[in-house]
Amino acid sequence: MIKTVVGSYPVITKKPESFLEKIKDILGIYDEYSYAIERAVLDQLNAGVDILSDGQVRGDMVEIFVSNLYGFEGRRVIGRIEHVNPITLNDIKLTQKLINKHSKEKGVKGIKGILTGPCTIASSVKVENYYSDNKDESLIYDLANALKKEAESIQDHVSMIQIDEPILSTGIYELNTAKRAIKRITENLKVPVAMHVCGKVVDIFEELNTFNVDILDHEFASNRKNLDILEETNKKIGFGCINTKLKSVESLDKIKDLLNEGLEVLKNNNSLFSDGKNNGNILDILNEYILIDPDCGMRLFPLDIAYKKLRNMVRASEEWERELGYE
Ligand SMILES: [Zn+2]
Repeated sequence: MIKTVVGSYPVITKKPESFLEKIKDILGIYDEYSYAIERAVLDQLNAGVDILSDGQVRGDMVEIFVSNLYGFEGRRVIGRIEHVNPITLNDIKLTQKLINKHSKEKGVKGIKGILTGPCTIASSVKVENYYSDNKDESLIYDLANALKKEAESIQDHVSMIQIDEPILSTGIYELNTAKRAIKRITENLKVPVAMHVCGKVVDIFEELNTFNVDILDHEFASNRKNLDILEETNKKIGFGCINTKLKSVESLDKIKDLLNEGLEVLKNNNSLFSDGKNNGNILDILNEYILIDPDCGMRLFPLDIAYKKLRNMVRASEEWERELGYE
């Protein structure tokens, strides 16, 4: 099974130290976040994660996008929203460079491009002009069009794209509007797309299952009820198995117990296990339909906690797969 992250990582910046860094600082071109990206990438590589993120270190999930889209001043909407320049591309390219430099296994690691979803951005900005309010459909669709351009600008540099739409589990936004907006972003992209919705999704899963994405990514460690969706999904599931609300580091056994619980529910999924599909081989089915990751982002953890949680996630899922293979 592929091991990945949801996205954000603790932000460790560094003041200029070397002569070159100090010169760059004087010239105003020193980037304290490039060190934060390096820390995030190194930790993910050392933990054994397969598809890495840049750590989303430049701000929170809304800030990163609104501060780079036309039509915003801070979080205030002051005009029609448009995409001007690639927002996350430079950090993705830096992530690739760092992987090439530090990864022992050449060419096997991928990068996940991450976009914050149109409804989630719309819900957390202040609408002062051009649109009527936070639920205005043209605000949501203009955001979707802008995010589509961002997706197109990064797709040649990533192995998958994830759209974060946590707001959808709150019921504040019409799922039909969200679905049309997501379709606008994902149509005709060259790479697989995941949609991450944390929180309780069991009541809205039937609809999420019809969204135009390849992977649905949810939390299971902090929300056992979500396990029920494994019985109905016909998409790949990003299986959040690390609790990102708790500081304690899960033991390998605890993670394996949750994976076992998930597998038991997945076995009731007729569309995956019926008509001789995948020959009923459990490891093949898991590889095809399950992706391992933490419940959500890890930005707020101390660095060592984030790293240990990731490391245990990878170790536990690898051990679990080996044990299943021997059965
Ligand atoms: Zn989340």
